[in-house]
Amino acid sequence: MTRILLLGGTGDALKIARRLGADHVYSLAGLGKVPDDLLCTVRVGGFGGAEGMARYIEQKRIGLVIDATHPYAAQISTNAVKASHAARVPCWALRRPGWHPQPGDDWRMVDQWSELTAVLAVFRRPLFTLGREPLAHLDDIPPHQFWTVRCLDPHDGHARARILAARGPFTLEGERALFSAEAFDVVVSKNSGGSATEAKLEVARECGLPVVMLRRPELPAADREFEGVVELLDALRHLSS
Ligand code: NAP
Repeated sequence: MTRILLLGGTGDALKIARRLGADHVYSLAGLGKVPDDLLCTVRVGGFGGAEGMARYIEQKRIGLVIDATHPYAAQISTNAVKASHAARVPCWALRRPGWHPQPGDDWRMVDQWSELTAVLAVFRRPLFTLGREPLAHLDDIPPHQFWTVRCLDPHDGHARARILAARGPFTLEGERALFSAEAFDVVVSKNSGGSATEAKLEVARECGLPVVMLRRPELPAADREFEGVVELLDALRHLSS
């Protein structure tokens, strides 16, 4: 039996974790919900960098690391490749393909927060769907803007922003209702890929709204890479047969 260390924190990772038996480990950073209905062991919190993860792999006799973390969680993905090489075990990775602009889409690509705020300067009512990062900048909202920030974190609110604590998946109908009620004039997004949060792009297209898209970080090459959960689970079945 090959003991698996699954690095997660995404819906896709949870789907894989639900297929793992009691000998395997599902690891979470500890920022979101911790599932309590899994057969496998759930561990929560950082390892202490790549060295700490390599030590963990050796101590727990892990035989395969699977990186199913979010495409923007570049540090843990880098650590997974380094640690598995150091501990001489293979590292597989779920690398979900990004979205691509469709005809008529107006995507404005940015690499970092400072670039993003410069591009946003001409808009009044942005919808942020980037996670918690905008919460650190609420006191810098320009006087002509009102922000809507959708993220997992509850927040006390702010006079110049509405914070929506919400977890996907989001439906097309729900997104249409939100866009219509809040009169957004631009959407700010990560290129997360997948279907759970894609509806906002469709509604932006319908409304002719531009999308400011944060470029994906570079991720290191893993020993095997999979585009979807089904392919990865299939490879795991071959491993155990
Ligand atoms: P990150 O910058 O790549 O990682 C920061 C540190 O958090 C890592 O060095 C590691 O600490 C710890 N960590 C991250 N994921 C972990 C895991 N699955 N198990 C144990 N430790 C973990 O990550 P992030 O962008 O802050 O994201 C944190 C978590 O949220 C990830 O697991 C990711 O899958 C999930 N998530 C992220 C996003 C996003 O947009 N970034 C979106 C949805 C979900 P040590 O160095 O101490 O080991």
